[in-house]
Amino acid sequence: MPCYTARARQLLKAAVHRRFPFTIILKEREGGDTQPVALKVDPGSKTTGLALVADFQRGKRVIWGAELTHRGQQIRDALLSRSQQRGSRRARHTRYRAARFRNRRRSAGWLPPSLKSRVDNIWAWAVRLAWHCPLTSISQELVRFDMQLLENAEISGIEYQQGALQGYEVREYLLEKWGRTCAYCGAKDLPLEIEHIIPKTRGGSSRISNLSLACHACNQKKGSQTAAEFGHPAIQAKAKQPLKDAAAVNTTRWALFERLKLTGLPVEAGTGGRTKINRFSQGYPKAHWIDAACVGESGEAIVLNPSHITLSIKATGHGSRQMCRTDKYGFPTRHRLRQKRHFGFQTGHIVKARVPTGKYAGTHVGRVACRTTGSFDIATTAGKVTVSHKLLKTLHHSDGYTYEKGKRRSTVA
Ligand SMILES: [Zn+2]
Repeated sequence: MPCYTARARQLLKAAVHRRFPFTIILKEREGGDTQPVALKVDPGSKTTGLALVADFQRGKRVIWGAELTHRGQQIRDALLSRSQQRGSRRARHTRYRAARFRNRRRSAGWLPPSLKSRVDNIWAWAVRLAWHCPLTSISQELVRFDMQLLENAEISGIEYQQGALQGYEVREYLLEKWGRTCAYCGAKDLPLEIEHIIPKTRGGSSRISNLSLACHACNQKKGSQTAAEFGHPAIQAKAKQPLKDAAAVNTTRWALFERLKLTGLPVEAGTGGRTKINRFSQGYPKAHWIDAACVGESGEAIVLNPSHITLSIKATGHGSRQMCRTDKYGFPTRHRLRQKRHFGFQTGHIVKARVPTGKYAGTHVGRVACRTTGSFDIATTAGKVTVSHKLLKTLHHSDGYTYEKGKRRSTVA
C-alpha cells in the first residue's frame, strides 16, 4: 500500500524491496489493510503524467506522482540511421545485405515505432505499479475534447458559454483546429482569445462554426469587422469544415486505452477539457502528474500537495543491437562486443560509488555506463564521474529507465 515518506520512515525497520519506485516489505506484519488505489494517466507526446490516487474514507488523495519522459524522437533517429546504413551497404554491393522490396504489409492497428514506444512505456508502468500496489481501477485522458458533445451542441444550436465543461471542451477543440496559433497572424506561444468570425454585434452566433482563435492584438485590430472584411476570407470557410482528423489525432491514446483494458481493471476515460476544468476549479498548478490526478469524473475532488516530490522517470531503452559502429560518414570503424555484462555490472544499472581518494573522492550515485576495461562512467546529477568497477555497489538493476527526484514546486497558481 503506497504511503507518505514520513510513514515510510517510521516503517523502515522493513526491508527495501525496490529502489525505483521505492518499495519496502514489512518484516513484522503479514497481510494488512489496503485501500482501493486508482492509477491515473495523462498521456502526452513527450511526457506522460502518472498518479496513484487512494480512496481513503476522508476522500481521494494523491499518494504517488511521477512524470514519464518518452523517447519517441530517439527511436525515430535510430531507425533512420539504420535504414541509411543498410541503404549504403546495398549500394556498395557488400555481402549479406540483399536488395529489399517494398512488399510487406502492415498489420491492423500498426503504430509507428516512435508512437508504439509511448504506449509500451505506459503499459510497462501500469503493469509494474499493479505488481507493487493494490490497483483497483485505471483512469486515462482519452481525447482532448468530446466530439459528440460539441456536435450535439452544433446541431441543437447550443452556444459555448452554456455549461462550464462545454466551454473548456470548445477551447480545446479550437486549439486543436487552429493548431494553437492565432488564425490571423499565425503567432504562437502567446495567450489566445476565442473570437467571433462574424462579430456578435453584427448578429454572429457563439456556435463553434463561428469561432476562431486570435491573439489579443489581432482581436483588437479586427474589432467589429468580419474575417472577410479584415482581409482573411479563407477563415470563414475553414471554420465551417468539421475537424476530420479528430479521431486520428488520438490514435495513440486509443491504442493505449485498448491496451490498458487488458489489465482486467475498469478503465475510466476522460477528456482534456474535463481535466482542465477539474484542475482550475481546485486551484492546482500545471504539472503533468497533477493533470493525471485530475483526469475524468473521479478527478473532481482530489486532495494533493502541489509541492509533493515526484519521481521523474526517463525511458532509455535496453541498449542497441547495432554491432558495427560507424564514423560520421557512415563507414564502419569499430565493433561492439556481444557481451553486455562487465565485472558484474551492465550499462543502465543505478550504482553507488565510494571513492576514497583522488579527483573524484566522495560518494556518487547514478546510472553507470560500462566499459570492457573496468573503468566506468557514472552519470550523477552533478556531472560525469569516472570510477573503477571495484568501488561500485549496485542499487537498482537496469530496467530500461533512469530515475531522478522531481523538483519541488512551491508556488500554487
Ligand atoms: Zn494575431
